[in-house]
Amino acid sequence: MTRNLSDLIKKMTLQEKASLFSGLDFWHTKGIERLGIPSLMVTDGPHGLRKQAEGADHLGIYASVPATCFPSAAGLACSWDRDLIYQVGQALGEECQAEDVAVLLGPGANIKRSPLCGRNFEYFSEDPYLSSQMAASHIKGVQSQGVGSSLKHFAANNQEHRRMSVDAQIDERTLREIYLASFETAVREAQPWTVMSSYNRVNGVYASESKTLLGDILREEWGFEGIVVSDWGAVNERVASLLAGLELEMPASFGIGEAKIIAAVKAGELPEEVLDRAAERLLRIIFNAVDEKKPNATYDQEGHHQLARKVARESMVLLKNEAQILPLEKKGTVAVIGAFAKNPRYQGGGSSHVNPTQLEHSLGEIERKLEGKGKVLYAPGFDVESDKIDADLLAEAKEAAQKSDVSVLFVGLPDRYESEGYDREHLSIPANQIALIEAVSEVQQNLVVVISNGAPIEMPWVDRVKGLIEGYLGGQALGGAVADLLFGDANPNGKLAETFPRKLSDNPSYLFFPGEGDKVEYREGIFVGYRYYDTKHVEPLFPFGHGLSYTSFEYSGLSVNKKTIRDTDTVEVMLTIKNTGTTAGKEIVQLYVKDVESTVVRPEKELKGFVKVDLAPGEEKAVTFTLDKRAFAYYNTGLKDWHVESGEFELLVGASSKDIRLSESITVISTVSIEQKIDRNTTVGDLLDDPVLNPVATELLAKVNENNPLANIPDEDDEAAEMTAAMMKYMPLRALSNFSAGHFTEQMLTEMIQQLNDVKESQGTAK
Ligand code: BGC
Repeated sequence: MTRNLSDLIKKMTLQEKASLFSGLDFWHTKGIERLGIPSLMVTDGPHGLRKQAEGADHLGIYASVPATCFPSAAGLACSWDRDLIYQVGQALGEECQAEDVAVLLGPGANIKRSPLCGRNFEYFSEDPYLSSQMAASHIKGVQSQGVGSSLKHFAANNQEHRRMSVDAQIDERTLREIYLASFETAVREAQPWTVMSSYNRVNGVYASESKTLLGDILREEWGFEGIVVSDWGAVNERVASLLAGLELEMPASFGIGEAKIIAAVKAGELPEEVLDRAAERLLRIIFNAVDEKKPNATYDQEGHHQLARKVARESMVLLKNEAQILPLEKKGTVAVIGAFAKNPRYQGGGSSHVNPTQLEHSLGEIERKLEGKGKVLYAPGFDVESDKIDADLLAEAKEAAQKSDVSVLFVGLPDRYESEGYDREHLSIPANQIALIEAVSEVQQNLVVVISNGAPIEMPWVDRVKGLIEGYLGGQALGGAVADLLFGDANPNGKLAETFPRKLSDNPSYLFFPGEGDKVEYREGIFVGYRYYDTKHVEPLFPFGHGLSYTSFEYSGLSVNKKTIRDTDTVEVMLTIKNTGTTAGKEIVQLYVKDVESTVVRPEKELKGFVKVDLAPGEEKAVTFTLDKRAFAYYNTGLKDWHVESGEFELLVGASSKDIRLSESITVISTVSIEQKIDRNTTVGDLLDDPVLNPVATELLAKVNENNPLANIPDEDDEAAEMTAAMMKYMPLRALSNFSAGHFTEQMLTEMIQQLNDVKESQGTAK
């Protein structure tokens, strides 16, 4: 329905206008009855609806209506499956329609800078490309149902420690290439109805009042058309945030924000046009929700549960499968050990906490698989509420393991170890669980471990186990999904969306996380995750992109449609992937780009494409990627733009960041010239390195040296000549006079600079 929003705004009093810019209560926007403007409900969260019927809080304390609990983002991202994430979004959108929720607060696209961040379970990846692709699919899915998304937390909310005040100090290139890039594609491609500004400050300014982030980048550059909503309680000064482009303060500020806005307008400090513009954007979203509302909507609860089970299967990662211990046969005696088998850890704590419609546990699902075919023994092995080692529980677990043909251990991080609101301090699982793995491994060699956790853990015990499944926080259907994978009713196909380091101190942010007082400096720069481990040659426990299958795949025939492109062109990269095993399976094919030679520091390689391919035994399929400028570019802070340096790039295709199967190289030619003017501080080496200037510079320098006694090196003295050349390399032109015994004058220097710049200009050098 079309409405004349500016007419509506003209009818509003200043008071009414100002009232729109903050919440009615915890979960609703304000309406204006007189003008027919309704109030909307917004609610968490990324992997399930948390609609609180009575009592409201952002910590997940009060109960919410039953809703499907899907795997949290850390797991979802391991599916690397855009279509599947879209389906999850669709399902969430349907549940929102049924519950009368207009905007779902998620997904979260913050980068996993440190594995310690308490909220990593809610974020997708350490890689901005993967993260942004996942976020875009999630948003498109939710919004396909006429429900808005809120992409959060914009930006650089990479820790929980002092999250409401900490200042994330990040250099411009790192911010662009890593932390903002993770939001950028999601905004450009999926146009979320709302973006949620984060609590923290970024380079000295609260994200909620940053004109650079909210105005220049989000709106102007990325073309964001929706509204910016504050994280709950993230507004520092209401007028500053409105001026920066934050339309909606949440939750209610009980008149405080409103009064400040009115006072600022009256004092002439806040132009009323700013209010009009903000009101128009808000009304567009509000009426959009009204128009998209599906009356009497319902959803298929069982269907969503089955989707949750499928998603959980696709999100889990088979990390290790020694001697092909998996899949298990449906016979014999299986000992199921570990309290998580019966009392699963399937979601994270805090604002995303969902009240599931039903809950499967692994023990029950394993029993179902073995019904009439084999025997299941169960022992809890540890107390979830404590880290203490209980000798009786250990003895009971050992006995069960001894009696079994194979033991499956369910361990991981208890709720209290990771949550919104605080960070972890180490990467270990509780001592009683480590003791359990050690004890059971003494009596049972056929050992499989299933982990439930929201983020990486250290595994000093990894060599004691043959099979290892990373289950992440698998949602309400994790039990069935685990059982399907264990017994081969489904073939694992997830791959890690983050690196598992051997130890915490290997992580690049280790020395600078979580900062000092209210300041955290991102000193590792662009070297986040595998960008660091690969470039620094630090061996991870499990690399980014790693994940095994019960079948095998062959990569072949990598080719490109052009060997040389300009940075304004695209290039197609083709290959064939074949299932060479006897089981149907899916392979996640990853494409990384490496800049072979660069004048700026760049990571060893960066992910620029991926695709998940479904293959029957013996089947092969062609895969095509299309790469554009951005795949080859770095962010040039001088140009304030993405820039490609002319030269050779390697295209690396593989099964993980460490398992590159094929490579091909292409040349990219830049169409943007970076004008580097020659001046008195240009070095001799830089002049000689410039292919255009080299001949002229060589001639001019020879002239300078002609009458210079200091440059008079005997022809046969090669060593002296080499040393002189090496010293000259870093010498600024102005210093030539100091070393020319007075032969090279200031006048000659000026002429030389002029001459070199003339040559540059006439040839129009492009870098
Ligand atoms: C969280 C957000 C959440 C909001 C509402 C905040 O504390 O950071 O992610 O959407 O609360 O519950």
